[in-house]
Amino acid sequence: MIIVCPSCNAKNRVPEDKLTEQPTCGQCHSALVPLAPIELNEQNFSQFITGSDLPIFIDLWAEWCGPCKMMAPHFEQVAKQYPNVIFAKINTEENPRLSSAFNVRSIPTLVLMNKTTELARISGALRSTELKQWLDQQLTAQN
Ligand SMILES: [Zn+2]
Repeated sequence: MIIVCPSCNAKNRVPEDKLTEQPTCGQCHSALVPLAPIELNEQNFSQFITGSDLPIFIDLWAEWCGPCKMMAPHFEQVAKQYPNVIFAKINTEENPRLSSAFNVRSIPTLVLMNKTTELARISGALRSTELKQWLDQQLTAQN
């Protein structure tokens, strides 16, 4: 499968069974599926989302949003446990066009994408167990 490097945007071909071995970018040697959520913005979003074969789980958040801050460590913790999902964050204030493209009505909003297709979304802050439960349900539904 193809994974776009979150650091340098190079496309990397990764065998599916190597995903759990923390594959690195052939160009810049950064982690291709980092253990921490990556930052997406209006500059890198479309290239990243169209280029990667892995599902992408996006947290749309804002600096002033208390529940977003409450959820952040949970989101980071769960990110470490899914080598087959890319976790990403989008700051809605810094990326108003992305925010309106996603039609965000309340934050935090979590969106699961596969390429440009939105698979599912949920709004409101979730704890790590709830995040995992929801994500597992969506991923199972896709198979
Ligand atoms: Zn790279």
